[in-house]
Amino acid sequence: MKNDNNIGFKLTPQRLAILSYLDGNKDHPSAEDIYNVISRVFPTMSFATVYNTLDSLKKRGGITELTIDPDKKRFDPNTEPHHHLICVRCRRIVDVHIGFDLSLPALHNTEGFEITGNHIEFYGVCRECKKSSG
Ligand code: ZN
Ligand code: MN
Repeated sequence: MKNDNNIGFKLTPQRLAILSYLDGNKDHPSAEDIYNVISRVFPTMSFATVYNTLDSLKKRGGITELTIDPDKKRFDPNTEPHHHLICVRCRRIVDVHIGFDLSLPALHNTEGFEITGNHIEFYGVCRECKKSSG
């Protein structure tokens, strides 16, 4: 029985659970975060299932992989261009939906590159972490 869809893999209940967890998720979860949540419902699910599902989604442009967290890759189901702010203590990541004029000056030598995008990483300490540091 074929159960393929436009995501490019069989939609098992585990994968559906991963997709629905990601849908509208603004927490920028890591693969470990997703595994910890979904394996509560599907205890036999392997970490590889999460990893492979994220990899397929990424390759098809369904999610963006963020490298702003030095500890682990984080994933963003919002693939519209936007910037990010990370708490350097707890690694909470929030969206920055402000457009910046970041075109390179005409004088800058781009060595023939056609610029297709940019991503700004802001660093800081979140409200909760500021509180707990007294
Ligand atoms: Zn924090
Ligand atoms: Mn985001």
